[in-house]
Amino acid sequence: MRTPKFSKRPKAIPLLEWLLSQCSEPDENGCRVWERHLNRGQAVLTNSTHGTHAVPRIIWMELHGAISDTIKIRRKCRKGSCCEPSHFYQWTPLTKVAKPGYRHGEASPRSKLKDADILEIRSRLHRGHLRKSVAIDYSVDVGTVADIQQGRTWKHLL
Ligand SMILES: [Zn+2]
Repeated sequence: MRTPKFSKRPKAIPLLEWLLSQCSEPDENGCRVWERHLNRGQAVLTNSTHGTHAVPRIIWMELHGAISDTIKIRRKCRKGSCCEPSHFYQWTPLTKVAKPGYRHGEASPRSKLKDADILEIRSRLHRGHLRKSVAIDYSVDVGTVADIQQGRTWKHLL
């Protein structure tokens, strides 16, 4: 995606400089708050041709070049109106898995089930056992069993 053009911006000023000039001075946390339009608390720029764009994304692309649509720009400060470039980081759904402390499968502290149980559950369902009876045997929810059967959870054992 190319950086959209915004007509309200005076052409003589570079986009990045103009965007940052639309923000407040840094506050005590170093956050520079977007002083134009917010959409659900997020800093956005709206343009009739290009639609609505998240300001951090535009700033990021001005600084680092184009990024894929699957990458999101998040803020360390978690403040939706903040446009301070040093607070931004790239986030993809995979970042969640890679984060220390995030575990899935039997390593998850919330899991009652072990890898071997999952294999046995899938095998029993495959042989025609009812979800409800499997759920009772393993003291889990019927929904949990359905998720296991349909591969929404425990994907690494599929
Ligand atoms: Zn911030």
